[in-house]
Parts: sequence; C-alpha cells; structure tokens
Amino acid sequence: MLESRPAVLLENHNQSGSAPDCGMETFSLEVDILGKPVHACINVTPGQARLSDIVPLARALSAKLAMATLERLREDGNSVPCCKGCLACCSYLVPVSVPEAFRLAEELSAMPSKEGRNLLQSSLEAASRILAQMPRDFDKDRLVPTGGGNGSNRLGTWYAGLRLRCPFLSDNLCVTYDQRPIACREHAVTGSARSCDVEGTDEPDVVKMPVSALECLGRLAAELEQSDVEAIMLPLALPWAEENAERSNRTWSAVTMVEKFTEMLQETDKVQIRPANK
Ligand code: SF4
Ligand code: SF4
Repeated sequence: MLESRPAVLLENHNQSGSAPDCGMETFSLEVDILGKPVHACINVTPGQARLSDIVPLARALSAKLAMATLERLREDGNSVPCCKGCLACCSYLVPVSVPEAFRLAEELSAMPSKEGRNLLQSSLEAASRILAQMPRDFDKDRLVPTGGGNGSNRLGTWYAGLRLRCPFLSDNLCVTYDQRPIACREHAVTGSARSCDVEGTDEPDVVKMPVSALECLGRLAAELEQSDVEAIMLPLALPWAEENAERSNRTWSAVTMVEKFTEMLQETDKVQIRPANK
C-alpha cells in the first residue's frame, strides 16, 4: 500500500490541538450539512506533494461528509437504501478526477502482482470496449464531472446502454472499496434501490451532496496545472495515467494545495465552511 500522505483527515477533530509541535499545519473546518455542523480537521506536513498525494485526504473527507448527509436524510425520515454490496450503480459512468487517476494507477501497481494484473486486465478490456463504441463527438478526456450539464447526461445515457459493469467488481464486490473513486462515495439515492437498475423505468432520486470533494479536486488540479477541468471515465483511468505520466511527477507545496482545496470547498454556496484555526 502507498504511504505518501502529506495531508490527512484526523479521525477526531479535537486532535488538532496536539499537532503544531511537529511542524504540521492544521486546518479546522466546520461544514453545515443540512442544518447541522460537521467538524473536520486536516493535518498537513510541510513539503512538496504531487496531485495524487492529496487524494487520500479528499477521499476521507468526501466519505465523512457523504455519510453525515445520508445520516441527516435518514433522521428526516427519508429512506436511503445505499449500502456496501448494493451494485446497480456500478454499471453507471464513474468520472474520476486527474489526481484520482494518477493515484489509482499507483495503487494498482503497488498491489500484489496477481491481483494487480487481474484488475489491470479487466480495466483494459473495459477501456477497449468503450473506445471501440464511443461516438466520435464525445471527448474521452473531457468528461463533465458529476453535476455537469446536458453533455454529461448524454454521455451517461450512452454509457449505461453499454451494460458494462465496473472492471473493479469481482464476485459482486468492489475490490477497490477502500480506494474507490470519490464519485462512488458521493453517489446515493433516496427511495428504492430498484430505481438504480439501468434496465428499470423509474428515475433514481439522486442525493445532491451539499459539498462535492470530487468537483473541488478536479478544479484544484486544473488550477495548479493551469488547464481545463478534466474528468476521466473510470475504466479509462489507467491508460490515461500512463499516457500522462510526466504530469504525475509535478509537485507543489502541500500546504498550498490544501489551502486551495479548502478555499474551493468554502465556495460551495449551500454549505458554510469555517477555517476555525490554521
Ligand atoms: S445508488 Fe442505488 S445501486 Fe448504488 S448503492 Fe445506492 S441504492 Fe444501491
Ligand atoms: S469502483 Fe467499486 S464502488 Fe465504484 S463503480 Fe467500481 S465497483 Fe462500484
């Protein structure tokens, strides 16, 4: 497993008081999730970091905020059927941000050889099927991230029509569950899980997360690299990371990256995030 984690989300936000003596920068956030505050505390080790190094933080934060959102919805009497092992949405198009594509490629290459080879193989098979059938007017490197406009809807509908299960599903389990993309963590529905069936007729009632770490991570990469926001289809992430390998080694100050990331989170108009101490 990769150890490169210059920025970590602390399990207990009260731990922030003990951090400064080891030279770390601490960011304390308060996020208003559907009317109730959720606290999060991030410790950053000063030094240089690559885009992929911030992914564990973004994953942990997205999981925490998504879980809090679903808890609030349940408290308000909504039925949220999402649970580990529920798989219909694993046939949807999953967008991954640039940092996630690089991280996923690194994690796969760090896996035991047989496991890593199997995942690489199923991922490449899915990628070649997508590329062979993709309409010419779609750009494989410029997906609109979650919550995008009509272009992403048309692409999502086309993708669902492929009936392509995620290459990271094995024996009906997500074999990369702990490293699954942020889009998977931020996707949930209310109502019935049956509405998620790609062959069903009911429209799923998709939960709009108050804050999306996926969108902020995509924007962060674009700002640092001074490029457009890119999102890659999950099955294309590995070949994409290989094609763009030189970009994966660029570094920035870890503190600056987290600072920009939290600033982007704060721009979300439906939530308030307050850096309490830094
Ligand atoms: S989004 Fe639908 S298919 Fe996915 S976990 Fe939730 S209920 Fe299950
Ligand atoms: S990465 Fe895991 S959770 Fe996400 S779509 Fe694939 S199998 Fe499902």
